Amino acid sequence: METASGRASWDKIGWDDGLVLCEILPSFVGQIKKTGAKIAPTALLPRVQPHSMLDLPAFKELLSSPKQIVITTHHKPDADALGSSLAWAGYLKKKGHRVHVITPTDYPRFLAWMHGNEEVIVFNEGNEQQSAQLVREADVICCLDFSSLKRINELGGIVREAKARKVLIDHHLEPEHFAEFELWDIKAAATAQLVYELIGQLGDHREIDVPIGECIYAGIMTDTGSFRHPSTTQKVHLISAELIGLGVQTNKVHRLVYDNNTEAKLRFLGFVLMEKLVVLPEFRTAYFAIRSEELIRYDSQTGDTEGLVNYALSIENVVMAVVIIDRTDGAAGPSPADRFGGPAAEPPLRSNRTGGPAANSGPVGVPAEGPSLSAVRSVKLSFRSSGDFSVNDFARQHFDGGGHRNAAGGRSELTLDETVQRFLSLLPEYREQLLRTQ
Ligand code: 5GP
Ligand code: MN
Repeated sequence: METASGRASWDKIGWDDGLVLCEILPSFVGQIKKTGAKIAPTALLPRVQPHSMLDLPAFKELLSSPKQIVITTHHKPDADALGSSLAWAGYLKKKGHRVHVITPTDYPRFLAWMHGNEEVIVFNEGNEQQSAQLVREADVICCLDFSSLKRINELGGIVREAKARKVLIDHHLEPEHFAEFELWDIKAAATAQLVYELIGQLGDHREIDVPIGECIYAGIMTDTGSFRHPSTTQKVHLISAELIGLGVQTNKVHRLVYDNNTEAKLRFLGFVLMEKLVVLPEFRTAYFAIRSEELIRYDSQTGDTEGLVNYALSIENVVMAVVIIDRTDGAAGPSPADRFGGPAAEPPLRSNRTGGPAANSGPVGVPAEGPSLSAVRSVKLSFRSSGDFSVNDFARQHFDGGGHRNAAGGRSELTLDETVQRFLSLLPEYREQLLRTQ
């Protein structure tokens, strides 16, 4: 379980297993004492917590005077990535800090209503120099909703080199441990939940206003699949109830995120459900493989493929669903002009910067940043599973990816057809596991 960095690796264990490990550890130690086996205590009692708490007094001290702060989040931010970043930014600004939110890439239009959206700097839209300078000059860099610097593309190296004190707030498996302050909890339903709790721990619960609360609610709502995934604890509902008490209109947030589709997105959905869905009952698996020319044909925009994978997972008896999308050629991402309100952008509910059609929805609803159009030119894979089948392991081992046990992403440098072949060739090895998944 120990990695080279000396940290416990959660590669092979889900979060429930982590708790089980904590519980069995005393009896395990007792047995070893009985048998007289010689095992170094550090090997037995590693940091077996699937979370790390930041040093609150030191963190308070860090934020006790005005700082230049950069907040960044992962490639193709989803509602939790952007919502937690903008909520955290809103709070820090209220405390007198100078804050910039930098995203590595664009994000779906249906997030544009979030408070602070208009100030977001999108790194790969001609803002590389400005972003690099802000990162270099920052006193503090907060990395939200991702835990490996490769998830922020070229920004990763710049953040790594920066002199700033680094803060990680995240709930994904296997953090890289590059930050001095780590608030990491894989049991948290969303990074937005961690932000909510952290603001409370800093004694500033009263600073959470409606705009901040809406961002937090959006993150929690989407990352729990609208409160249906096992991560939806009592605490999640209590936090949501508190947000409602503050004045957050949850139905407004839900409509902004989920009822903001373009006609093109729905027609694309119809096409892929009719023409592209492949179901493999013998492996309890279903997948879509989508060509770049198909994305172009349906004018697919960033975010339009989010939620697609959930339709495949919603099929009776299917426990693993995959969307494989060719992003390698031709499928240029939307231009900045499109993103800031291009021709098809007139939304049913107007938002402050980009307008906002397109939505993340699906019957099973694991939220997704979704493989998307611009920035990374490769075949992207998006995985979902139910029960104890770990798509985190699958994506990590075979497709240079990762995520959570039941929702993960990855990439491939092969062509689309080769990637599909590779994926199919792996299934027999997993057949037993897939068949016995509950
Ligand atoms: P999606 O399928 O929506 O792109 O991603 C599902 C989950 O896996 C999200 O939590 C996302 O942050 C994570 N994820 C997606 N791609 C990658 C990847 O390449 N590496 C890692 N570590 N996580 C990923
Ligand atoms: Mn998240």
